[in-house]
Amino acid sequence: MDELIRHGFEARKDWSAYYTTAVESPARYHNRPDCEDGSKIAEKDLRAGTDGRQLCEKCRAAQRPPR
Ligand SMILES: [Zn+2]
Repeated sequence: MDELIRHGFEARKDWSAYYTTAVESPARYHNRPDCEDGSKIAEKDLRAGTDGRQLCEKCRAAQRPPR
């Protein structure tokens, strides 16, 4: 695993922003590890951060738990 992949993987586990480098329309980012769409992102496509994208609707609709 290279650094970018590891960071993306850690971001998803840690309720941080992550996104896929795979083509999708519209492009979105996620912040829930259990997001139905986000959890489908393959590790090789997983990156940490928002990439300036809109938050995924499923992530936005869900309540973020207290840390
Ligand atoms: Zn999502």
